[in-house]
Amino acid sequence: MRKDVRILLVGEPKVGKTSLIMSLVSEEFPDEVPLRAEEITIPADVTPERVPTHIVDYSEAEQSDEQLYQEISKANVICIVYSVNNKKSIEKVTSHWIPLINERTDKDSRVPLILVGNKSDLVEHSSMETILPIMNQYSEIETCVECSAKNLKNISELFYYAQKAVLHPTGPLYSPEEKEMKSSCVKALTRIFKISDLDNDGILNDSELNFFQRTCFNIPLALQALEDVKNVVRKNLLDGVKDNGLTLKGFLFLHTLFIQRGRHETTWTVLRRFGYDDDLELTQEYLFPLLKIPPDCTTELNHNAYLFLQSVFDKHDKDRDCALSPDELKDLFKVFPYMPWGPDVNNTVCTNEQGWITYQGYLSQWTLTTYLDVQRCLEYLGYLGYSIIQEQESQAAAITVTRSKRIDLQKKQTQRSVFRCNVLGARDSGKSGFLQAFLGRNLARQNRIRDEHKSYYAISTTYVYGQEKYLLLHEVLPDFEFLSEADLACDVVCLVYDISNPHSFEYCAKVYKKHFIDSKTPCVIIGAKSDLHETRQYYSTSPLDFCRKHKLHPPQLFTCNTADAPSKDIYTKLTTMAMYPHSKLRCMCTCNRCTFCICHNLLNSELVRSVKAKLYSAVLTRHMTQADLKNSTFWLRASVGATVFAVLGFAMYKALLKQR
Ligand code: GDP
Ligand code: MG
Repeated sequence: MRKDVRILLVGEPKVGKTSLIMSLVSEEFPDEVPLRAEEITIPADVTPERVPTHIVDYSEAEQSDEQLYQEISKANVICIVYSVNNKKSIEKVTSHWIPLINERTDKDSRVPLILVGNKSDLVEHSSMETILPIMNQYSEIETCVECSAKNLKNISELFYYAQKAVLHPTGPLYSPEEKEMKSSCVKALTRIFKISDLDNDGILNDSELNFFQRTCFNIPLALQALEDVKNVVRKNLLDGVKDNGLTLKGFLFLHTLFIQRGRHETTWTVLRRFGYDDDLELTQEYLFPLLKIPPDCTTELNHNAYLFLQSVFDKHDKDRDCALSPDELKDLFKVFPYMPWGPDVNNTVCTNEQGWITYQGYLSQWTLTTYLDVQRCLEYLGYLGYSIIQEQESQAAAITVTRSKRIDLQKKQTQRSVFRCNVLGARDSGKSGFLQAFLGRNLARQNRIRDEHKSYYAISTTYVYGQEKYLLLHEVLPDFEFLSEADLACDVVCLVYDISNPHSFEYCAKVYKKHFIDSKTPCVIIGAKSDLHETRQYYSTSPLDFCRKHKLHPPQLFTCNTADAPSKDIYTKLTTMAMYPHSKLRCMCTCNRCTFCICHNLLNSELVRSVKAKLYSAVLTRHMTQADLKNSTFWLRASVGATVFAVLGFAMYKALLKQR
């Protein structure tokens, strides 16, 4: 809404412009007035709409045409004053004043006009008959009013209408020619209806109406008022009320009624509350609230935001199959001006048998957007009405900005729940397969993905010591020369080679030496396509020797050419490494016998779920402190781990006994 209002009075000499202003200010009719009143400013707190209002007089005798044009272009609303007993002054409204004003304002942003018939005390008959055709001819005329500076009749009303014409213009809402709301207004109100229809049954029931009323007007609707509203709609419309609630049709009818009765400020209050500006676009402040993200920090959704998104999902998962069918998804995004998710999203997150995004997948995609492009996330939450439904200041309340990763590294712990793993490797080394396998898709299933629907991201959850974490995999294009900062910055790196292609390891070795040899980011070498026959790599050292030399874990063999869903172990391990880059809990072998594997498997078994958390923290602290003491090679670290396992084994045994 505007911060102030500038009202200009024009018209023929002697129609009473100056007297009107003086009467308003002094609340009595001045017998003598100057040719032109000084510009006055009415302070916000004494105006009905609580905005400072400037009132500007015009006098042909005192001002040049140039000065008049300047005032016209500065004005927010212009009152064309005529005298009801002076025919010539009425004629001049259309022959002179309206064309003069319109020539000086843009066609698209015409300044609203108010026709003011002064000196109503002098005549018996109203001038309305002459005025109404003019009103119908010019849509920029907001309203007309007859008044008398002498009797003080309709003086404050006149200035109130002028103020209202600026603050709550009818132009964007209503077409007087068609006698109906404009389509952009219907669109905005339909979106508002959908957001307020919390259970998505197409009806605003009493509690939804109450919530709506409270959010928009800050007061609950009295029971009787609620009934009255519904009765008005019932009387005028066949299907405006259904199951004792308001249908969309009824809701739109009600607003048309408000506008037709000159109560369009009601509709504006609703529109503004839901983020719309005077052109019925969502404002930038609403869609993009300020959110500061210091370097080295990431963005995540907080608990409240997940709850909200969950309710949005539930509202649209009509068949309760925990997945969104194409129709359900379309319905969910109806409150958006465009479809935000393309078919690539189905290959970024988990889907069900039919390829529909599951509940998990849906939350994962939101997590991904929040992480990669928080502005977009704020925008999307804005379309869903997050701040309104959750009664928050803005969408920014949905976001947790994590603490700087530098501090996480110093303190050796993290509160983050989203970790990024960049996947690098030569062409055709198996990167995409590695990403898709995380979504539970084997090679046969992956082959059904169309090229144009391919995604370079995959995100899903893993459980690390009983805590649910998101792992975001990003496939980096294998253009060695053009690896950017962003391609390299992440929490853990996968370097993928194809064990059956002798030329594929070289890329991993080169990238490692160029970018990661001195970096703190943990690296894992993945030997992909392990179902195929392994060949010797054409590189000076074998992958295993390379790992030994650089104190990396031995290459992790991986295949997605499986009958069922590929194993998820590797992703849990990657997340663990991303969470604890210091920790020497880095056994990446698959023997299932060494410390890490066994701890891990035990900790994840159902039996010990309840004692897990306690034990885990003890184990981890031990692991870290012990391992940190020794800055030795990986092979040595494994033996340190073995001692720890002995301790853990005992504790676990005791805990299990107790449980029984
Ligand atoms: P302006 O040139 O448009 O500013 O008109 P003025 O305010 O100077 O008024 C011109 C004359 O009309 C003055 O003599 C006023 O006293 C008189 N006048 C203004 N308003 C009214 C009104 O409402 N009723 C009557 N009877 N006379 C008015
Ligand atoms: Mg005057």
